[in-house]
Amino acid sequence: MSKSGPVVAVDGPAGSGKSTASKAMARAQGWRYLDTGALYRALTWWMLEQHIDVDNAAAVAQRAQEPVISITCDPDAVVVRVDGRDVSAEIRGPEVAAGVSAVSRVPEVRERLVAIQRELIGDGGIVVEGRDIGTVVAPDAPLKLYVTATPEVRARRRNRDFGRDADGLDQTLASLQRRDAMDSSREHSPLSRAEDAVEIDTSEMTLAEVVRRMCDLATALTGDEAL
Ligand code: C5P
Repeated sequence: MSKSGPVVAVDGPAGSGKSTASKAMARAQGWRYLDTGALYRALTWWMLEQHIDVDNAAAVAQRAQEPVISITCDPDAVVVRVDGRDVSAEIRGPEVAAGVSAVSRVPEVRERLVAIQRELIGDGGIVVEGRDIGTVVAPDAPLKLYVTATPEVRARRRNRDFGRDADGLDQTLASLQRRDAMDSSREHSPLSRAEDAVEIDTSEMTLAEVVRRMCDLATALTGDEAL
């Protein structure tokens, strides 16, 4: 995996397919991959473990520096650790999903996690995925993508990924929309499309098509055929 090269910033709402496509793109290009949402989830997981009320922004801010958080940038093995404990599976649970938007709107949280992200990005050769990558974390990234899909398609994909049946669709949709609303309306670094981002609506696309489009854009940028 390369530790230098371009930075590809990939932003978009939950369930848009950006994680799977970003990982596949990194693999195809021989670049690293950074899942920034996993860092927000890891800190949220720790706050819940500590019984901190995640809706209490002052309490969250006060403890935000405490846990040691690390993440690997290998697209084939994303391992997230909090104080040395592998929490890669736990951070995907419904409790963390329900609390993460509250934790991530706290400025002290963002400041700390953005510093970790910038250090990991280093000299590039990396696909970085999140909500504010093209706007805040890496505004100079030479390639910015904004990946979307309709809420219904996103909810269906989430249910499929987590093996939930169709009955839970309304619930998944409601949870996604709640998170979208909070992530888009928060005061600090809200989810928004960078002006110079290329938008990819994946609603009617297969994963292979999305990855192909992303790699084509990268090839146009770097000028070499990395596939
Ligand atoms: O991408 P994922 O769904 O794992 O992100 C979880 C949450 O982390 C988002 O809903 C958002 O609240 C927060 N997040 C963020 N900024 C990022 C990435 C994620 O605020 N760059």
